[in-house]
Amino acid sequence: QMGKVGDDLGEDVYLVGGSVRDLFLRSDHLDIDVVVEGDAIEFARAFAQGRDDLRLRTHKKFNTAKLLFDSGLTMDLATARLEYYMSPAALPVVEHSSVKLDLYRRDFTINTMAVRLNGRQFGLLIDFFEAMRDIKEKVIRVLHNLSFVEDPTRVFRAIRFEQRFGFRIGKLTEALIKNAIKIDAFRRLTGSRLFGELKHILEEESVTPAIERLNEFKLLRVFHPALQLTAKQLELLDQAEETLAWYRLSFIDKPLRRWLLYFLALADGLDEQQMTELCQRLGFAPKLREEITEMRAKALRCVNVLQRRAARPSQTFELLRPLGLEFQLLVMAKTSKDYAKKAVSQYLTTMVRVRPELGGQDLKAMGYLPGPLYKQILDTLLAARLDGQVQTRQDEIDLVE
Ligand code: ATP
Repeated sequence: QMGKVGDDLGEDVYLVGGSVRDLFLRSDHLDIDVVVEGDAIEFARAFAQGRDDLRLRTHKKFNTAKLLFDSGLTMDLATARLEYYMSPAALPVVEHSSVKLDLYRRDFTINTMAVRLNGRQFGLLIDFFEAMRDIKEKVIRVLHNLSFVEDPTRVFRAIRFEQRFGFRIGKLTEALIKNAIKIDAFRRLTGSRLFGELKHILEEESVTPAIERLNEFKLLRVFHPALQLTAKQLELLDQAEETLAWYRLSFIDKPLRRWLLYFLALADGLDEQQMTELCQRLGFAPKLREEITEMRAKALRCVNVLQRRAARPSQTFELLRPLGLEFQLLVMAKTSKDYAKKAVSQYLTTMVRVRPELGGQDLKAMGYLPGPLYKQILDTLLAARLDGQVQTRQDEIDLVE
C-alpha cells in the first residue's frame, strides 16, 4: 500500500536501514524505517487517510512522521535529504541519488540497504555500499574514514551490532575506532547520548561479551576512569545474568529495568564518590542518582546481613522491602551463599504476597482505636505469619489478645 501512495503522489518510497538488515538477520523486528523521496509528512497523511488501525505522529522540525499500528508495529518515515544531493560534491546525479545520500549518512554498511516499495520495481533491493557482501562476511564496516569522528556514538553501536549478530568489526573500522579513542572523540558527547548507548548495550540479549569488548578497546574509562572489568566484576556480571534468567522463569511480572541491574553490576567496584561522578557523566536526573546512591548502600548492607547466617523470613522481609526490584536482584547476584539467594527468591515469589488475615476492621471490632498502633499490630502479625508462628485467623486473634 505504501508503494501505491508513492505512485499516486509521484514519489519514490523505500524500506531502509536496520529494517532491511533485519529481513536478512532476524525476523522479530517490529520497527520499520521508510524513506520517501519527497515529503514524508504529506506521504504519511495520505497513507493514513481512511485507515482506522493506526495513529499518526508528525515532527515538522525534522520532516518525519511515525505511524503506530494497533498491531504494535511502528513505522518511521523520513524525507530523503535532497539538499545534500544539490551540493556540488554530490554530482553527478544518478538515479535514486537522494535515497543514496540518505543511506550514505548511516553508520555501517549493513544498515544501508533499501527496498523499493513503489509499484514499479516493487521489492527491488538497493545496495549501494556492498551491505550484502558484509552481511555474508559477517563484518561491521563504516562507510567512510571520518565516521567515528563525526559521531562517536557509532563506536558503541559497532560493538553492539557485532555482538548481537555474531559479526566482527572490520580491520579498517577497528583502526578507526582506535583512532577515535586516541583523540578522545567521546569528550564532547553529552551525558544523555553516552548513556543512551550504554543503556542500549545493557538491554541487549547478551551483555557481558559486549562489555568485554568495550574493555578490550579501553572504552569503559570513557564512562568513568575507574571503571574496570576485573575478574570479580566479570563474575558479578555472570551472576546478574543468572539472576535475570531465574527472574524470567519466575513469572514475576513487575516492570524491571534490566539495564539498571547490569549497570549496578558493572559499576560495583566504584566507591560512592565515583558512582556519583559516573551518574553525573551519564546525565542522570537527580531522582535516579539519589535512588542509586541510597539503594546501593542499602543493598550492600543487605548482602552482608543475609549471608552472615540464614535469616528468619521476617528479617529477610524487612531487609528487602525498602529496596527497588533491581536492587533486590543485585543482592541476589552479589551474595555467594545459597541460603541468601534463596531468601531473596522466596521474598520475591512468596513473601511479598503474604498478608495477615486480620485487618483494620477486625482490630476495631476487637476494641482497638484506629491509630499508629494498627500498623504496629499488623506488622507484628505479618512477621509472625512469615515466620510460621501463626497460621490461622484464630492464631492471629490469640496473638493480638
Ligand atoms: P535496533 O535493532 O537496535 O533498533 P536499528 O539499526 O534498527 O537497531 P536505530 O538505532 O533506530 O535502529 O537506527 C535506525 C537506523 O538509523 C539504523 O539502521 C542506521 O542506519 C541509522 N542510524 C542510527 N543511529 C545512527 C548513527 N549514530 N549514525 C548513523 N546512522 C545511524
